[in-house]
Amino acid sequence: MTAAADAPRWTIVIHGGSGSMRRGHLPDDYDAGGRAGLKAALDAGTAILAGGGTALDAVEAAIRVLEDDPHFNAGRGSVFTAEGRIECDAAIMDGATRNAGAVAGVRTTRNPITLARAVMDQSHHVFLAGTGADGFARAHDIEAADPAWFETAERRRQLDEILANPDAPFDSAMKYGTVGAVALDSHGHVAAATSTGGLTGKKWGRVGDSPLIGAGTYADDRACAVSCTGSGEMFIRLGVAHEITARVRLAGESIEDAADELIAELTEMGGKGGVIVVSADGSGGWAFNTPGMYRAIATHDSPPEIAIYSDE
Ligand code: ASP
Repeated sequence: MTAAADAPRWTIVIHGGSGSMRRGHLPDDYDAGGRAGLKAALDAGTAILAGGGTALDAVEAAIRVLEDDPHFNAGRGSVFTAEGRIECDAAIMDGATRNAGAVAGVRTTRNPITLARAVMDQSHHVFLAGTGADGFARAHDIEAADPAWFETAERRRQLDEILANPDAPFDSAMKYGTVGAVALDSHGHVAAATSTGGLTGKKWGRVGDSPLIGAGTYADDRACAVSCTGSGEMFIRLGVAHEITARVRLAGESIEDAADELIAELTEMGGKGGVIVVSADGSGGWAFNTPGMYRAIATHDSPPEIAIYSDE
C-alpha cells in the first residue's frame, strides 16, 4: 500500500450565510474579514480531520470560530430581535448514529453550537429552548457570556434600518451571516452543524430552520450531511436538509442534483438561500440562488477554496 493510500481521506465544507452580496457593493471589511473568518474556521476543522479526528469535532470547531467572529450572524455579531435582544439558534447532527442536539433562543451561552453538542451528548433530549437551554449550559459548565458580548454596532444599525421600514418584505430582513459546516472524516462518518442569530427584527420567539433537524441541518452516513442558510420559513416547509439526504439515499441522486433540485423548489416558492453538502464518499459542494454565499471547502488532497460571489 502506498503512503498516499494510507493518508486519511476527509472533506470539509463551510458556509457563512447567503445574501445580496455583490462584488464591489460589499464593504471591504465584509469581503476581506469574511474571507479571513472562513479561512480560520476551515483551518480549525481541517486540523482535526487531518489528524484523524471526527467529523463531529471538526464541524463544532469550525462553527465555534465563526460564532466568535463578529462578521457572521451567529454567536458574537448575531442580529437583533425587534426588542433589541440577541437570541441564538444552533444544531449539530452525527451521521453515524443520527443522534442530534439543538437549541433555540439562547441568550447567555458564548458558543451555542457547543451547547447543542452537549444536548446531544449529555441529555436524552434533542431540542432545548430559551432560558432552559441556557440553564442546561450552566449546569454542564459550558462557557457563559454576558448578553452585551454578542452585540455589534453594525447589527444595531441593521435593526434600526428594519424598524424604520416596517413594510419592507419580510425577506429583506435576511442579512448574510448564518454559519454552517459539514464534514466527512477518515473513519467514513459525516456530520453537520448550523448556528445563527436568525432574522433581524424577529419577534414572538420566532425560530427558523437552522436548529430544526431535517430543515436546516441533517446528517446520515448512508447519504450525506447538509447545512442550510436563507429564508428559514421556506426551508422548514420544504424540509430541505432531510430531503436532500433522502434523495441521495433513496433515489441515488448525486449531491449536486439533489441540492440543485431543492434550490429550484425554493426559488419556485419565492425563497432565497443556499446549502452546503458533503457526501459519504467524500464529494463536497454547494448550491444557492442568491447573488452570493460565503463558502469554503478543503479536502485531504485539494487546497482550501474560499469564495463569496456567485461568479467565483
Ligand atoms: N436560515 C436562517 C433563519 O431563518 C437565516 C439565514 O440563514 O440567514 O433563521
